[in-house]
Amino acid sequence: MIKKVLIWPDPKLRKASKEVTVFDEKLTQLIIDLHQTMKEYDNKPHLPDCAGLAAPQIGVHQRVFVYKMKGEGTCMINPVILEQEGEQYESEGCLSFPGVFIKVHRANRILVEFQDVDGNKNRLRTDGFVSRIIQHEINHLDGVTYLHALSQVKRDLITRKLKKVQKRVAEQERQFNEWKQRMFAEADSGNDNPGGDTRGSSETKESL
Ligand SMILES: [Zn+2]
Repeated sequence: MIKKVLIWPDPKLRKASKEVTVFDEKLTQLIIDLHQTMKEYDNKPHLPDCAGLAAPQIGVHQRVFVYKMKGEGTCMINPVILEQEGEQYESEGCLSFPGVFIKVHRANRILVEFQDVDGNKNRLRTDGFVSRIIQHEINHLDGVTYLHALSQVKRDLITRKLKKVQKRVAEQERQFNEWKQRMFAEADSGNDNPGGDTRGSSETKESL
């Protein structure tokens, strides 16, 4: 199921996530939800490509994230960085910070240990973009965001701006729900109306 991505400064984004100890159907469903949500946001033309999504971003505080590697969706559970070396300093975006791009210092090469959906332990040695995604997502699991790369003044500025975005999104949702209720009410009354087919189809054309 597609979930709502929380927008900063939602306090849930500052809470550290718990280690996963039970590898059951609920966990599989969480990973499916994360993949579906990442794909949905990735397909939105007005948003930049979406390369990763952590469970706390949809309000679930478990150490799980999904990400794209060579175009394929994959996931990491209970990830731990064992080794890191080198440096990279690139611009990053985040679904919880719509429209905000921040240059962040990260390690270049990392060796990360994680579990898969069945609880099996794996290791991945990677660098560059994928390494950056993994470090960004692990930050989310610790309740840390890439805002830490900025001065307090800039953090406050972005937080103020995103509070307005939060309000706008909430208002859009309210309007959409109202519209949905109205449409269902109209559809119901249309069904009750015998011989209303012709009228119904012309109305459909108008609404398009
Ligand atoms: Zn993020």
